[in-house]
Amino acid sequence: LTTADLIEEHRICVCVRKRPLNKKELSVKDLDVITIPSKDVVMVHEPKQKVDLTRYLENQTFRFDYAFDDSTTNEMVYRFTARPLVETIFERGMATCFAYGQTGSGKTHTMGGDFSGKNQDCSKGIYALLGMYFSLGRQVFDLLNRKAKLRVLEDGKQQVQVVGLQEKEVKCTEDVLKLIEVGNSCRTSGQTSANAHSSRSHAVFQIILRRKGKMHGKFSLIDLAGNERGADTSSADRQTRLEGAEINKSLLALKECIRALGRNKPHTPFRASKLTQVLRDSFIGENSRTCMIATISPGMTSCENTLNTLRYANRVKEL
Ligand code: ADP
Ligand code: MG
Repeated sequence: LTTADLIEEHRICVCVRKRPLNKKELSVKDLDVITIPSKDVVMVHEPKQKVDLTRYLENQTFRFDYAFDDSTTNEMVYRFTARPLVETIFERGMATCFAYGQTGSGKTHTMGGDFSGKNQDCSKGIYALLGMYFSLGRQVFDLLNRKAKLRVLEDGKQQVQVVGLQEKEVKCTEDVLKLIEVGNSCRTSGQTSANAHSSRSHAVFQIILRRKGKMHGKFSLIDLAGNERGADTSSADRQTRLEGAEINKSLLALKECIRALGRNKPHTPFRASKLTQVLRDSFIGENSRTCMIATISPGMTSCENTLNTLRYANRVKEL
């Protein structure tokens, strides 16, 4: 490996996290088709049938920076993913951590469930400003200001601004946790289930480190919309179809932006979606680092979505 390889290696980290079978899957005797034979390998054992009806398992192997099995705790995942990025924001850098995967695969568990006060070390003593907002379709809402609609504008110098976005000053870990709670309850308010809305929206949570009023570094934590979209594109409801198309488009743009980051490409297609536009400065900086956690369900019934997630994650990684 050359030094350049090593730098690239560290700029993008792609991991996979498998969750355990849940009660519902256990009750219908869904099969666990995922194995993690070593700390960086994921195998999918897809049951198939030949023309003569003999059954066999089609095995596919994927390699990532880390593969976390279903016994891995949030704290361990954090230690290998977000924690190594914390240094970046103290060195005038941009750190970004995404959770990508099918609805119900563990994105929010991984991103949100982690702020239970366990990881106090990473925020204690940081004098930070914090924003949280939420986009649905092409719209951006402020989760810290009762879902006020926001506008994303780009000026002549291609600087992107989210007009009217609230930034809250925080002095301690408790302040951060309180804001996350406000944002989360705002994201899911009026919904029958937490997943009903979050599967159709990206939530962006940013911690901005300022020194003497100037931005020094930024840490973005993103709980992406569910990546399963088949049903929406054929939905009778126009709004649902439009949202589904926008989610597809933003996830494709995201993939290209992360890939561009790893290859130091000067032209990043960030304009293709609101999500990538909002994250633009995190994709172009010299000192930008990204970690993607692809979350997967273990069940046979989710096999197709799981393979899509693994292929997407693989594509982000390959140069
Ligand atoms: P998503 O945000 O991807 O739609 P969730 O994070 O809401 O999915 O997870 C769906 C359900 O599965 C939740 O009840 C969550 O607590 C549970 N779950 C997800 N990942 C894990 C895990 N690694 N270990 C145990 N339970 C998990
Ligand atoms: Mg979720």
